[in-house]
Amino acid sequence: MPAQQVDPRRIKQNRSYKIGELAACCGVHKNTVRHWQSAGLKSLDDERPIMFHGTAIRAFLSSRKASRKRPCPAGSLYCFRCRAPQRPAPGPVEFVAINILSGNIRTSCATCGTTMHRRARKSALASILPGRTIQFAEGQPRLKGRSPPSLNCDSKRCATT
Ligand SMILES: [Zn+2]
Repeated sequence: MPAQQVDPRRIKQNRSYKIGELAACCGVHKNTVRHWQSAGLKSLDDERPIMFHGTAIRAFLSSRKASRKRPCPAGSLYCFRCRAPQRPAPGPVEFVAINILSGNIRTSCATCGTTMHRRARKSALASILPGRTIQFAEGQPRLKGRSPPSLNCDSKRCATT
């Protein structure tokens, strides 16, 4: 499991952990715990074995998790190639409705040109992309709209038995 997916709630607050115990608890390698230590995770003291308190581990992992959040300000969408919120390229922005209330915003990144997507409520479009022209595109065709399947597709096998 990658280190960024460790859930801080797996750590018991009133318990102390050795490096190996903490690695096993989080499902990471021991070297990952040593890396956390060099990145700022405080040990109880400088004695061996190195021990970490649950409260300190939880605070450290929670702060790392919070620092990785990239909230999108108004007028921007998250670009996976740039790994940051980016403004959409000039021109109209497409909105593909999924149901009556919500759908997907689809546009390209102004910096790298990659297609960006964001799920949004129809009523929130004006606050997500203020001042932008939004084109309402046709939704994906539904199974309900297709012609009914043939019921005689297995007739050859029925005829032989
Ligand atoms: Zn981009």
